[in-house]
Amino acid sequence: MNCYEHPIQPAVAQCPDCGKGLCAECASVYSIPICKSCNRKRISAEKSGIIKELLLTFGIGILLAVPFARWTNEGLSFDLVYNVISYGIPIYVFSGIVPGWKTLTNLTPRVFLFLPIIGWVIYFIIKLCLSICIGLVMLPVRTVRNISRLIALQKIKA
Ligand SMILES: [Zn+2]
Ligand SMILES: [Zn+2]
Repeated sequence: MNCYEHPIQPAVAQCPDCGKGLCAECASVYSIPICKSCNRKRISAEKSGIIKELLLTFGIGILLAVPFARWTNEGLSFDLVYNVISYGIPIYVFSGIVPGWKTLTNLTPRVFLFLPIIGWVIYFIIKLCLSICIGLVMLPVRTVRNISRLIALQKIKA
């Protein structure tokens, strides 16, 4: 097999995604031997995955926090500090659910449990409670990591 871009060069590697041949030069362009178009695809897939996670994180956070804050605070207040605290804290706590949940899922990747429905409900509730606790730490960690990864991906010329 020869290189897909340089037909006279023998292939030393194959693109892991599409199987095209890569010569020594083309195989060393990126951190792994991969062809240009598949590399571009991987970058855009990773980007959209990160954007989805960020939207989901803060979407769920705001969706749950606003009714919660309304419910726990009677009437409207015009005190700015009070409003920032009474909305900010629930938004922070509820936004931690997705990062916490993802962290737990990463810790236990291939657990498949045979449980009756009630077992799944209990499992879900326990995981949700743990997610809220872990999310308090993982929300800033994952958000900073995701945004810096997004900036790094944006800088790569595809
Ligand atoms: Zn490819
Ligand atoms: Zn080549």
